[in-house]
Amino acid sequence: MTEPLTDQLVDGIHRIPLPLPLDDLEVINAYAFESSKGLILVDPGWATADTERILTAALKHLGYGLPDVTTMIATHGHWDHYTQAIAIRSKFGGRVLLGAGEHHSIDSFGTLTGCYPRQVELLRAAGAPDLADIIDVMPYQEHEKNIDLGSPDEWLHDGDTLDLGDRTLTIHGMPGHTRGHVVIADPDVGIMITGDHILPRITPSIGFEREPEAVPLRSFLSSLRATLELPDALMLPAHGPVSPSVHARARELLAHHDERLTVIREFGASGRSPHEIAQALPWTRHDRRLEDLNPVHQMVAILEVDAHLTYDATLRSTATNSTTRS
Ligand SMILES: [Zn+2]
Repeated sequence: MTEPLTDQLVDGIHRIPLPLPLDDLEVINAYAFESSKGLILVDPGWATADTERILTAALKHLGYGLPDVTTMIATHGHWDHYTQAIAIRSKFGGRVLLGAGEHHSIDSFGTLTGCYPRQVELLRAAGAPDLADIIDVMPYQEHEKNIDLGSPDEWLHDGDTLDLGDRTLTIHGMPGHTRGHVVIADPDVGIMITGDHILPRITPSIGFEREPEAVPLRSFLSSLRATLELPDALMLPAHGPVSPSVHARARELLAHHDERLTVIREFGASGRSPHEIAQALPWTRHDRRLEDLNPVHQMVAILEVDAHLTYDATLRSTATNSTTRS
């Protein structure tokens, strides 16, 4: 990596870029808060020896070590955000906090087998049985093996505050990317850690988790609107550069989904399946065809179309009900 070990954003708040063992996302931004109640880490990465080595070097640069970490917050349960927190806790101690809505997916590691059990069912229903067969037997990759997914020490709820002595962090529940996603604000200094809820360069996936909710896009859009109700802040995302305005990016994402919904609604009206609609749309920032994406990305694309159609159906049923009532 050519990035610096740490990058001070505001007095006592640092960005720590950490490597990821993934093809599509190479870096996650962890954030460290120095406080009179110890060192707090947010999203400390994917549990690998590389992450631990680079995180150790970064903390040393700030004058700390991993045993100084008292609290770790994961914005959500995806492995690039959560698993290193669990690994650090086992080795050095410290408590791990995670949004309460993540318990569905964390618990399901004990009850469901396979990498993407729910997604296989959804793909079949979305008209993609062949892809569902491929995903159904997909083995865990090397970097996904032997990962400890223990439960957090505490579940976070919307409106919780974290008293760090000289600063207070506020937790806001922002479901959509996952059911229990939280963002973390320090309103006194005007920053917000947005995790994967709002990313500067990419459109976050929606409901791509082990136990997704029924209408994840509804939650995501409502969370984006809720973000606009909070004071605007410097955006500290999990991936990509720190950006000046959370609000500006939330508005862009709302506009993107509005546009996407209109297009998908038109295709849906012609009776095409989510798979067929996904085949007709361009994907990624590079406008790739669905067939040119790897199976996991094809799955995410088809399920995104499915999420838009499901959400649109709830809008239509709400409209019908209110017409019936009036
Ligand atoms: Zn994520």
